Amino acid sequence: MYWNRLSDRLREQYGGKVYKLALSSGCTCPNRDGTLGTRGCIFCDGAGAFAAAGEICDQLAAAKARVAAKAGTEARYIAYFQSFTNTYGSVERLEPLYRQALMPEEVVALSIATRPDCLEKETLNMLAALNARKPVWVELGLQTIHPETARWLRRGYDLPVFDRAVQALRERGIKVIVHQILGLPGETPEMMAETARYIGESGADGIKFHLLHVLRGTDLAREWEAGRLETMTLPAYIQALEACIRQIPREMVVHRLTGDGAKRDLLAPLWSADKKRVLNAIHRAFLQDDVEQGSALEKEKT
Ligand code: SF4
Repeated sequence: MYWNRLSDRLREQYGGKVYKLALSSGCTCPNRDGTLGTRGCIFCDGAGAFAAAGEICDQLAAAKARVAAKAGTEARYIAYFQSFTNTYGSVERLEPLYRQALMPEEVVALSIATRPDCLEKETLNMLAALNARKPVWVELGLQTIHPETARWLRRGYDLPVFDRAVQALRERGIKVIVHQILGLPGETPEMMAETARYIGESGADGIKFHLLHVLRGTDLAREWEAGRLETMTLPAYIQALEACIRQIPREMVVHRLTGDGAKRDLLAPLWSADKKRVLNAIHRAFLQDDVEQGSALEKEKT
């Protein structure tokens, strides 16, 4: 059994566990502010604050306080701009935020979640300059390569836009992490494995797998309530995940095997609320099925 876990790579590099500090850049999203759409992606609950959530140093202190009990005093951190589209703003506004987030010695990297259609040349160059100081990761929510599903989820950009963004980031030495959602309606396990394979071949460095889950107040919740949507069972999720892991190169870093939904708003599938149990079940299945990352690719070569 083998998969290339982020926690192992971070431990190797920094000699211990590295904690993420969730920060807000105050950016909105073109898929919500009317530029591309107003309702956002179908699963997006719009959680997080549009308005600036205070000075970065205060946000860092508050985020550190939240993990202080387990992190201790020697911990290392990744400053993580997670919610919304964190490059959807001018370089003049964003650069100081990112610089402040990277300033403390114990912050070892910056991770920025965004959309591939929100990476202007100027922004890319600013990120490259920061990357020369400390590692910068950019996270892109591709979710699927299949156009009909992308339309259904109202992603708002086509695959070539993603390809160009990955290339532009790689040209500047910036690490790229791509999000994929398993369990999108109409997608078979084979289609999910195709998406994973595509991400593996895209040149991205890392991948995050998520389960499609229904949160209260989203358009997805309305689909689910109307009986037009079924969510995955845990065994089906594990089976699809195993197929995806086998399709990605051995060196690609797996950042997540499942998502972390907001429990109080979760409508379905309810089994996903118990993350510890889900991860245990995944690990047991990987062991039992002897899952080897990249094994499907190796098989094709022989
Ligand atoms: S791109 Fe992200 S923030 Fe924007 S609507 Fe989609 S999920 Fe929400």
